[in-house]
Amino acid sequence: MSADDGTVNDGTAGVTRRGLLKNGLAMAGSVAAIAAGAGAAGSARADSQPYSPLYAQTGDAVGGRKFRAWVSRGDGPGRTTLQELTLRPIAGRQVVVRTEAANLCYTLSQPMLGITRQIQGTQRPPTPEQRARGERLNNMATVQGHGGVGIVEAIGPDVRRVKVGDRVCVSGTPQCGVCYACVRGRSDMCQFLGPANMPEGMTPVADMKDGTPVYMNSQIGGFGEYMVTVEEWVVPIISKASAAHLEVACACTSVAGLGATTSQGIAVLPPAAKVAVVGCGPLGLSAIQGARIAGARMIIGVDPIRVRREAAMRVGASHVLDPNEPGDVVDRVRELTSEDNPSMWGGGIYSAPFQSGGADFVVEAAGGEWLPPALERGPDPTGLLPMQQAYDMLHGTGHAVLTSLAFGNLSFNAGVFALAGRSVHSGQAGGCSPLRDIPKFVSFLDNGSFDPTPMLTAPVPLEKVLDTYQEVARRATILAVLVV
Ligand SMILES: [Zn+2]
Ligand SMILES: [Zn+2]
Repeated sequence: MSADDGTVNDGTAGVTRRGLLKNGLAMAGSVAAIAAGAGAAGSARADSQPYSPLYAQTGDAVGGRKFRAWVSRGDGPGRTTLQELTLRPIAGRQVVVRTEAANLCYTLSQPMLGITRQIQGTQRPPTPEQRARGERLNNMATVQGHGGVGIVEAIGPDVRRVKVGDRVCVSGTPQCGVCYACVRGRSDMCQFLGPANMPEGMTPVADMKDGTPVYMNSQIGGFGEYMVTVEEWVVPIISKASAAHLEVACACTSVAGLGATTSQGIAVLPPAAKVAVVGCGPLGLSAIQGARIAGARMIIGVDPIRVRREAAMRVGASHVLDPNEPGDVVDRVRELTSEDNPSMWGGGIYSAPFQSGGADFVVEAAGGEWLPPALERGPDPTGLLPMQQAYDMLHGTGHAVLTSLAFGNLSFNAGVFALAGRSVHSGQAGGCSPLRDIPKFVSFLDNGSFDPTPMLTAPVPLEKVLDTYQEVARRATILAVLVV
């Protein structure tokens, strides 16, 4: 079986399932020719028996394999170390993926570096009972990371979604397809989003040298040579893009930014919209690219960090604003968006009922700060002010999609919140539906409409992941990608 070019020979006389998917009609023609020539209906049987036990690649083959991964355990700095682990045999719906690349997501700064937040803690302290039993998430040895791209190395006997050799995105959010949320088109809120909700619970997938059982963060991991996950988290992808570029398009942050703007999962970005994106990190830059792809007429990027504003212009922003500049950034967005309002052409007098201007669509992607930024600091380290501003810069018919993690509580004027016409949308991954949307994002990469280059800092080797997190947590990088 060959993995690098995404092909899998499943033994059907030279016809490959991946080849069919990739080459379409030309390949299908050769299937017909083979079937006619051989006179055997079995020649094209690749997918006619998808649930046959013949398709199962049992996990015994990978049990006992050694691999390296960044494992967190305990508290404070030094809790994350590079360990050699031994894989356990897999079963059921488990999938072993050989990691090609993984995003060093800013959200993971705290568990990677053991940062104790000064502003307002988000780490849940253990209850006295949990403490007595030693039951505490921090005490579980966990391979860090929450997703990546790679090649399927082994599957449990019940896996149907992928085969050995498939190139996959291990999504940050699962999609079971059958739960209350999934059947309502909200796979971003799938029942397995809390991985402990899995019928199997959280399952150890490897062991440390001293026998300590090791889990995968969120059932997926990413900062190791293997990810051991469950079928619901894997999305087959077909692309010849490099691992690093593919990961930029499939990273949790890009899935959220492209999801918020192009998935229509929780809010529809209308064509020719005036869009504001608050925060131009990996998530905001993806949202800007998504807004461009969706046909926005104006895209305003807001970020205190100069290099991020420059990247925003490179990926499609029409305007950028520095929230640290004098004057209220909300007023500046309202001023920009009040110009050239199509409603004026149709006989409208005012651009909005209560205030002039305002964005049709806002993606909020700023977030609180884990550590003081190495470059320009934002106006509010809690991330609450950017979130409030995202709401305040909406037009009276506008929609805001919130994607970031801020620390604390917001307050709104109740009359405005209830009656001003602005809609606020909350969800995971920008409301994206992984199986439907991630292949679409890969297509954006392959057809050139999504540009990974301005977002990607140098690829990070496995040994440098922890060091690089010092820069990630200080926002000195844009998007750092582990390439194994
Ligand atoms: Zn993430
Ligand atoms: Zn589901």
